[in-house]
Amino acid sequence: MGVGQIKRAVFLDRDGVLNPVVMRGGSPASPRGLDEFSLTPGAGEQVARLKEAGYVVIVVTNQPDVARGLLPGEELAAMHRALEQAVGPDEIVSCPHDDHHACACRKPKPGMLTQAAQERGLDLAASWMVGDGYKDMEAARAAGVRAVLINADYNAEVEAPQRVADLAEAVDLILEQG
Ligand SMILES: [Mg+2]
Ligand SMILES: [Zn+2]
Repeated sequence: MGVGQIKRAVFLDRDGVLNPVVMRGGSPASPRGLDEFSLTPGAGEQVARLKEAGYVVIVVTNQPDVARGLLPGEELAAMHRALEQAVGPDEIVSCPHDDHHACACRKPKPGMLTQAAQERGLDLAASWMVGDGYKDMEAARAAGVRAVLINADYNAEVEAPQRVADLAEAVDLILEQG
């Protein structure tokens, strides 16, 4: 019963991590269809490094444009099929709700992380969250997961335990710190 028994995950935010954000009115926003969706260069390679190191890789993404009627569910599904094929995470979990639903899954709430941990028997303290916003950092803190923020023009004010330049550096840091 050594450390090999511990089941660890890396939770990845989607927008700003695996795909670039779309700027709308000066704010980072989510793509609303395949035509606005592109992948972060090297995303598949970085996810493969995490999986090779034994991490379960789970995408956890807020998609309130679904609740707002701005993103058809079929478009979200099409983007996630493309993401699955090109990047290969173990699972993609999305919250389609908006604030007024007061759901348990919308980050900064930790529900997407804690539910996956229950389903898969994950050790959250041995797991990581990679994101580009305060909601990612707060969901990680609430779930008891270590976190790293990818620097962007729009997140200079966000409090983060650790910061890196890009996804490759985030994976370097996770593999170093274990
Ligand atoms: Mg994001
Ligand atoms: Zn939700």
